[in-house]
Amino acid sequence: MIRKGEKLYSVLCQKCPRCHEGNMFSHPVWSPRFADMNKNCPVCGLDFIQEPSYYFGAMYFSYAIQVAVFVLVYLLLRYTTNPDTWTYVLYMVLGAVVILPLNFRISRAAWINLFISYKTR
Ligand SMILES: [Zn+2]
Repeated sequence: MIRKGEKLYSVLCQKCPRCHEGNMFSHPVWSPRFADMNKNCPVCGLDFIQEPSYYFGAMYFSYAIQVAVFVLVYLLLRYTTNPDTWTYVLYMVLGAVVILPLNFRISRAAWINLFISYKTR
């Protein structure tokens, strides 16, 4: 079980990497404003945007997650229906679109967790 104090908790729940209490994002993940981030942690005040273009490196995590989704979709289709090539492409694109908000948030949370550690008060 993932507990507060572990980096995985902060990443998967998109909580502040320092206090694990404040939300990094201001709206729910499946809302049209899923990408809106809080500028600072509402609990401890940590600056979520450390410098301009800070989350550029989050695309590495995003890429890895997307490849995992592609592989998962491929394996599911391959061992269930084994459709034609364009059906694979269609479902992979659908998978990418559906997972986009969660991928975006988890990638950013993972990126900031590389540089900031949990601190108990
Ligand atoms: Zn915080």
